[in-house]
Amino acid sequence: MNASSAELPRRLVLLLADGLRADTARDYMGYLQALQEAGRARACELRCELPSLSRPLYATVINGEPPLVHGILGNGQAGQALPHHLFQRLHAQGLTSAVAAYHWFHELLSGEVFDPLRHRDALPPGTGIVGARWYWEDDYPDSHLLADAESLRQQHAPSLLFIHPMGPDLAGHQHGAESPAYAMSARKLDMLLSQLLPRWHAAGYDLLLTSDHGMNADRMHGGPLPVERLVPLIWVPHPAGEAGESGSSGPGAGSAGTAGSSDSTDITDSTEIATHWDPLAIPLPQRQTDIAGWVLDYLGAADGPR
Ligand SMILES: [Zn+2]
Repeated sequence: MNASSAELPRRLVLLLADGLRADTARDYMGYLQALQEAGRARACELRCELPSLSRPLYATVINGEPPLVHGILGNGQAGQALPHHLFQRLHAQGLTSAVAAYHWFHELLSGEVFDPLRHRDALPPGTGIVGARWYWEDDYPDSHLLADAESLRQQHAPSLLFIHPMGPDLAGHQHGAESPAYAMSARKLDMLLSQLLPRWHAAGYDLLLTSDHGMNADRMHGGPLPVERLVPLIWVPHPAGEAGESGSSGPGAGSAGTAGSSDSTDITDSTEIATHWDPLAIPLPQRQTDIAGWVLDYLGAADGPR
């Protein structure tokens, strides 16, 4: 990848919306669509690894290996640690992370079975995670989790803010993926993002949004059908020149974004601005197993020790 050709340091929000189908994200998230139509975001689809289940794919997203390789093959493997993952790699390069996520992520990172009364804000050792908020009820509201995450971001200013809301997965299991409730979960997430993303951008954070797996109308997922496998990948870098700790200086940063464009061409057409580094035009992960490496590359930690 060549995502590392412009100024560092960077800051990234990686938002993993649990159980959000690609077509649902496309059809019901109007704020994200507005950003795409304005040439400020790019969206594509990824085909998730198999089995299309949460715990195995949480592990895949943060360590870059398919379940058959990392060995987390089912949701019941409570307390089993992943031997390596992107948080470690960031830590090895002196970069910090903050995490607001379901407790299974705590288990993958700590190797301990989650205890709500001990681990609510526990920092898994050796991970470089400087702030954490773990939830364990599937109906913990996305609005609360995103506020938790924003609080961590403001407190710690991490290089990576990892956020994992459960709303779409919960609605899908309760009502099926063709239900009004499932669509509403995506609409709600979109409305929350419309309030948070401008703040993230103002602070110099870029957003990569994806999902672990899709959802079937039969209220489950796990298999290879497209509805269970196709997930969104949406990239929304902060506009160049917008206030922030990074991105307002360095080669190309002031001239490649929406505000700095002197002509009226659509900035999604990267050939029109090929002489400038355009964060919107960088290569995106092509597979779910590329995400962890892409994050490391983007944050400047790709060459660190494993
Ligand atoms: Zn699920």
